[in-house]
Amino acid sequence: MFFNEKIETMNREKLDSIVEDRILYTVRYANENSPFYRMWFRKNRINPKEIRTHTDLLNLPIVNGKTIRKNQPPISQDFQFKSIDWSEVFTIHETSGTSGSPKTFFLTWNDWERYAEKYARAFVSQGFGKGDRVVICASYGMNVGANTMTQAARKVGMTIIPEGKCTFPARVIVNYKPTGLVGSVFKFLKLARELSKENFVPSELGVRRLVVGGESFAEESRSYLAEVWGCDVFNTYGSTEGTMCGECTQKNGLHAPEDLVHLDVYNPSLNDFVKDGEPGRIILSTLLPVGGQSGTVLLNYDTEDSSMVLSRDRCACGRTHMKINYPQREKETFWIRGTPFNRVDVENGVFQRENMEYLTGEYKVFLYGDLLGGVSTLNVNLECLDLKNCNISIVKENFLKGFFKFKPQLQKEHSENNLVFQINFLKQDELEIYKFKCSSKRLVDKRQP
Ligand SMILES: [Zn+2]
Repeated sequence: MFFNEKIETMNREKLDSIVEDRILYTVRYANENSPFYRMWFRKNRINPKEIRTHTDLLNLPIVNGKTIRKNQPPISQDFQFKSIDWSEVFTIHETSGTSGSPKTFFLTWNDWERYAEKYARAFVSQGFGKGDRVVICASYGMNVGANTMTQAARKVGMTIIPEGKCTFPARVIVNYKPTGLVGSVFKFLKLARELSKENFVPSELGVRRLVVGGESFAEESRSYLAEVWGCDVFNTYGSTEGTMCGECTQKNGLHAPEDLVHLDVYNPSLNDFVKDGEPGRIILSTLLPVGGQSGTVLLNYDTEDSSMVLSRDRCACGRTHMKINYPQREKETFWIRGTPFNRVDVENGVFQRENMEYLTGEYKVFLYGDLLGGVSTLNVNLECLDLKNCNISIVKENFLKGFFKFKPQLQKEHSENNLVFQINFLKQDELEIYKFKCSSKRLVDKRQP
């Protein structure tokens, strides 16, 4: 099943030629409509007419979130990235400003249509179709995800229940019998616990698919969620900047809609592409169909997420668009003595199947020590289903096994006492995460430079 079969199954040669047409047009559009890029081409002595192919993009500098902040009020007088007249702007969004002021994005109706198409393709590739009823637990508001998914549902023919938050009464599930839920790993687990308290069995409520949006997760979390809800669990990656990639039924990577967004994977110095199959930083460029327009065009934008290209061959699902590995956020990646680890590695440890007999899955981790290479301490706080009956030694052992699974170097540091674990066990709902918003940071670096 496809949403747009012709495009989604197009052969590589044709697809690449569409991409090149759109790179050429988008660069021209940026030069004509984006004050930032017009200045930027001039400043860097680049003739936009000479940027025609994917490789030509290497000649353009990389921009990032800081560049956007510097080119909008209060630092700049106007919004230099806004690439359309005010009268054509349909919505204005701000990305949550974890590091100071938020970034502003302008979307036209054209942008909305393309964002919705990307999500529609993802939904259909996961088996959703007409007649499905889907609860969106992701928040509406300034975040584009929930809104554009709702727009996608209209294209696919699905019914949306726009809860917009992680807590809602059991009657929503019982009365409307949704076939799918969109949210996060933790929201789904919490919902399942609440339903169980009211004597419902989550796996018997008719939910057939869960879509985890906007965060990467460990395979362990996926298999546990699938068990609790008795259904398929899919990953979808998206951002206000326009990266919407969905996992198909093969569940081995995310298809990037190559005709609508251009993703390159760069080396850590951000001066060259890496080969397919090698990890690197995802650099995004907007792709506009010839004649299309956009409120905020981005060329060579550093997403601060890392991933790798897994394949550009036809997938078993029939799609030809490239598959990328599940992106991990740089912000959630920390280094101990030259070895990186990510929040997902912590989740590998928490969600070991046997641990889930004792834990809720909620956790909070603090990293202490000094950045100069002394002893690092991972303070791991785990929430128990029933603290009195928690088998602490088993959970500790499983946690370490899972955490070290992809990190043998950290296991070595641990055995040499350079990395110490303090694993604490808390009562249900004791973690401070609940006192703040649902997506509070779970991994906090407290090290002093
Ligand atoms: Zn596929």
